[in-house]
Amino acid sequence: MKIIDLSFVIENGIPTCGTPWHQTVKLEQMGTIDTVGRNTHSILLGSHTGTHMDAPYHFVKGGRTIESTPLETLCGPISVIDFSKFKAGDVVQYDDVKDLKVTERMLFRFDWFKHWRTGDYYKAFPFFSEEAVSFLMANGIKLLAMDTPSPDDTKNINSIDSPNHKALLSKDIIIIEYLNNTDQIDLAKKHTLVALPLKLKGSDGSPSRVILFEE
Ligand SMILES: [Zn+2]
Repeated sequence: MKIIDLSFVIENGIPTCGTPWHQTVKLEQMGTIDTVGRNTHSILLGSHTGTHMDAPYHFVKGGRTIESTPLETLCGPISVIDFSKFKAGDVVQYDDVKDLKVTERMLFRFDWFKHWRTGDYYKAFPFFSEEAVSFLMANGIKLLAMDTPSPDDTKNINSIDSPNHKALLSKDIIIIEYLNNTDQIDLAKKHTLVALPLKLKGSDGSPSRVILFEE
């Protein structure tokens, strides 16, 4: 069995959502072996840093927070859909998903992770139409994962208008964003997802280690 790591490395200087409220990464050495006999770091992160998960509370008042996300949703069989034909600015329409077998967990590969740290990562990434998301929801999706920054239109990234986030999160559907290495997935194989956020009390999301077992 192969294990594929779909997570970005978290380090100083990685891009974060270009909004004034999002914290940039600050990893700083505190103790060192030479000074206090051990290495330690302080870690300052936004909740939507690197490969991460959105909990309903991100957009829903009173919504579920990240520490109570059921592990049964985050771990288990997942379908991988190759949407690498979608390019910058493309929209996944209802017609593109209507013949898919919808499962509880679905991962959409756009190969957008290749733009990480290029300056283009947040620009015009492919996203889902509201009709496409409605179809997935009507057919029982519980977790939607992608290698782009968002299931929503890039022009909404700095506004409160994120219709797909709101639709999914209001129904307790988990969103995983910023996946890495999706081109390493062999579509002919079967996949099991393990996606683990930090158990942060009251948080709207968390950086997450996301891996696939492939067999
Ligand atoms: Zn997010």
